[in-house]
Amino acid sequence: MSAQNPASPGGPVVEGPHDPEHDPRASYALEPEYTAALTRRLVATSGTTAEVRSPLDDAPLAHVPQSTEGDVADAFARARKAQLAWSRTRLDERAAALLRLHDLILERQEEIIDLIVLESGKARKHAFDEPLHVALTARYYGRTAHQHLDSERKSGVVPGLTRVEVNRVPKGVVGIISPWNYPFTMALCDGLPALLAGNAVVAKPDAQTMLSALLAAELLEQAGFPKDLWQVVAGPGPEIGGAIVARADYVCFTGSTATGRLIAKGCAERLIGCSLELGGKNPLLVLRDADLEKAAEGAVRASFSNSGQLCVSMERIFVADQVYDRFVERFVARTQAMTLGATMDWGNDMGPLISQQQLDTVTAHVEDAVAKGARVLTGGKARPDLGPYFFEPTILEGVTPDMTCFGKETFGPVVSLYRFQDEADAVARANDGQYGLNASIYSQDGDRARAIARFIKCGTVNINEAFAATFASLDAPMGGMRESGMGRRQGSEGILRYTETQSVATQRLIRFSPQFGMSDETYAKVMTANLRLMKKLGRA
Ligand code: NAD
Repeated sequence: MSAQNPASPGGPVVEGPHDPEHDPRASYALEPEYTAALTRRLVATSGTTAEVRSPLDDAPLAHVPQSTEGDVADAFARARKAQLAWSRTRLDERAAALLRLHDLILERQEEIIDLIVLESGKARKHAFDEPLHVALTARYYGRTAHQHLDSERKSGVVPGLTRVEVNRVPKGVVGIISPWNYPFTMALCDGLPALLAGNAVVAKPDAQTMLSALLAAELLEQAGFPKDLWQVVAGPGPEIGGAIVARADYVCFTGSTATGRLIAKGCAERLIGCSLELGGKNPLLVLRDADLEKAAEGAVRASFSNSGQLCVSMERIFVADQVYDRFVERFVARTQAMTLGATMDWGNDMGPLISQQQLDTVTAHVEDAVAKGARVLTGGKARPDLGPYFFEPTILEGVTPDMTCFGKETFGPVVSLYRFQDEADAVARANDGQYGLNASIYSQDGDRARAIARFIKCGTVNINEAFAATFASLDAPMGGMRESGMGRRQGSEGILRYTETQSVATQRLIRFSPQFGMSDETYAKVMTANLRLMKKLGRA
């Protein structure tokens, strides 16, 4: 039997909940016609399929056809053809398509959210962040297109006689390899500036969340982007990822540091550029003058949004000694008050992890810490009664360097608390390790917090907020220092990475060699005098 999803009538048709009185879990399924329409967009001729299952109830959602290396080549060939025509369109036309996408995403957000929740298991309120973020990105780049991409006049070597302009030329076809944790936004948001700059895209989303990424491709076409401009291939990264790196003119990768390293090597071999958005072990600092209610509320979102499966989420909290006990009391109470649930409706504060692999990693990190002497202040165990991959939001104290979760990214709902005496020590400990993605500082003295931020080796620092302030401020670049990444998304840097810089100089009247019968020696003297004069005149 099928019924409309109770959470969002009009979204993809799903079943469930089957017996809500006695079983808090639900059983959901997508209509086969719906998934067939989405998977038809794939370039995939291997004849094999991969099953996508929902982490809400471990029920199968779809069988996704898999791509071969030949399919990847085919996808690039189509994308190249489409890109030639696209790069000749007017910038205003491309920007208008982005603004139409903005509206379309807001109109179809319930369907988008349904699919994200079904595929990833995340709480509905965290799924909402995805269409929100993509719509913001579409509007930002749609409205600022000229600011980033218009040709710029520069001063020429001979004032008035050398005219110089710098053009932004599209790279060509961009390969985008994306992870499962934000399946809609990660599949789409990095590609929007690439399209605006005149590129085509070949996307390889993570196998666990292909449907959300395919819906993204459908929405692009409906917004007016040419069909072949955005190709999607499916398959395990280690099998077809290399075929993307081998053909792309630029690679945008989001995922683990280990895979990022492989991508960087492949790109170096071909002398093509890449941006890498990688992992983190992000620190949150609670200074002694922090508003503790705000800090505790922020720490819950910082640590447990999307069950901690968020590159910018906090896994280490450093608290000033003077306020440690009062902060911890509030943080633990708020965490214990969270509503946990593996359902599609609004109201849950946290959903399950996405997979058995994630559950195994999180369990192993907590068990290792506890075995070595860490104390569990709340949480600490799996909750199979709520869903197959559920793990409670967990706060640890007494974590030491010999424990795995001290320096290694857990990528789950586990956070460690540390006490500090002086701020310089807190900053040094926050900077420990190889990562440098995101940090957060809670203090009522904004100037002091901003001054401390300059010493933190992270690409983004949020003051009195967990991560959303930087992540949603699209005019500012976002990305990691050290092993958390290379390059930046968002802002000018987020779009200029997809362009080549071309300088065009037009010379008038004089040339750069002796003229009017002048000897080489006289020419050298005239030029030397000219250099001295230009410096005196204050020219750059
Ligand atoms: P992962 O590196 O295993 O996979 C990410 C993507 O890379 C997937 O599409 C996968 O299929 C593909 N892939 C895997 N091996 C490949 C290979 N050899 N060649 C080409 N592609 C390959 O990452 P994951 O564990 O699935 O994702 C979680 C990680 O991603 C975490 O470390 C998290 O911090 C990071 N992440 C970072 C950001 C950011 O913006 N910095 C955002 C989201 C996730």
